[in-house]
Amino acid sequence: QAVATVQKLNTKRSEEIFKEAQTLLPGGVNSPVRAFKSVGGQPIIFDRVKDAYCWDVDGNKYIDYVGSWGPAIVGHANDEVNTVLKAQIEKGTSFGAPCELENVLAKMVIERVPSVEMVRFVSSGTEACLSVLRLMRAFTKREKIIKFVGCYHGHADSFLVKAGSGVITLGLPDSPGVPANVAAATLTATYNDLEAVKELFAANKGEIAGVILEPVVGNAGFITPTKEFLQGLREVTQAEGALLCFDEVMTGFRISKGCAQEYFGIIPDLTTMGKVIGGGMPVGAYGGRKDVMMMVAPAGPMYQAGTLSGNPLAMSAGIKTLEILARPGAYEHLQKVTKMLVDGLLEAGRDAGHDICGSNISGMFGFFFCKGPVNNFEEALASDTAKFGRFHRGMLEEGVYLAPSQFEAGFTSLAHKEEDIKATIEAAKRVMKRI
Ligand code: PLP
Repeated sequence: QAVATVQKLNTKRSEEIFKEAQTLLPGGVNSPVRAFKSVGGQPIIFDRVKDAYCWDVDGNKYIDYVGSWGPAIVGHANDEVNTVLKAQIEKGTSFGAPCELENVLAKMVIERVPSVEMVRFVSSGTEACLSVLRLMRAFTKREKIIKFVGCYHGHADSFLVKAGSGVITLGLPDSPGVPANVAAATLTATYNDLEAVKELFAANKGEIAGVILEPVVGNAGFITPTKEFLQGLREVTQAEGALLCFDEVMTGFRISKGCAQEYFGIIPDLTTMGKVIGGGMPVGAYGGRKDVMMMVAPAGPMYQAGTLSGNPLAMSAGIKTLEILARPGAYEHLQKVTKMLVDGLLEAGRDAGHDICGSNISGMFGFFFCKGPVNNFEEALASDTAKFGRFHRGMLEEGVYLAPSQFEAGFTSLAHKEEDIKATIEAAKRVMKRI
């Protein structure tokens, strides 16, 4: 049943648990974006999740648009995924030795993702991105990289430079502890600004190993690239002997079956993945051109390893998730419900007199309280984040769980039904009027 009816939000247990958590865990959480720093109030402590819904420890039910920050694309606690997980648990969760499931998932990734000829599995998106960075440097024998303001590529030192959502939400411009000389090798440009990239290449001739970007940004709010920008990056990196890496940790298998690179028809040299390919288990991956991937140990000299990498539990969840996504109509469903959601939110906002803009591609979406369009992080920062905070709180009280930051994308799943979307839009209409 759709549940976005007004519920008096009793959060007593959540508050008690969070109070204790703050004495045990820094800030009471194990990942900063889970804290409600930028929207006010305290985080809701979850008890369980199923399909498109989550339940908190006080018994409140929410329609969920966070989806565990992306992995839950086939719906939370999907029965089919659970079945393979249970079976695998009986056979063992970690071998520390090769298993056939690694080949199965690798073949699925190679078949689907245009740039990937070989793949290495790791255990998180952060690990995938930091490994690909080392690989870009090893292959090109150059040290500098270009990233874009507001893009997040995990928390490796080199990437904590103008790094988007989590960092911005906390108001930390860069993290202390990142060595200045490491940060200095990370050059930054404005997203969708090809000229800025060309200038960086010109000013650092023969020194840039590669360019990494989110091919659709989810960590500065939801921001889409222009086709010319992606095409231009492909051309300039090729001309300069540098590598192009699409960080598809968020967009991978979400934007389309073959990731954002298939959707836009631009093939990078390397790709990082995570979230969806783990089907809710901790997985990351990086892959790409065979000649580059053959640098990775033990095939080549670039060292990278992992105790739990390619473990059979994570592989089986990933395989089942990609299998479900390959069924006819999956991406059509994501596009249909997500577009309906965004259209409804924008209309509710405009009818209530707010400046609001937003869009979606497949099951990834976002909106900003400003006239828009928003093409880069600087423009996202100019939106009304205080209003977003009030909207977030209001929606929570209506039984809708949105990401607790303006600078995060939203996610739908195959389990989101039209009635959930309609209920969400009705809730938004009420909340937009009182913010
Ligand atoms: N890259 C992108 C685009 C991401 O969105 C994220 C996480 O949100 C990461 C990398 C890091 O992944 P993880 O949190 O699994 O380390």
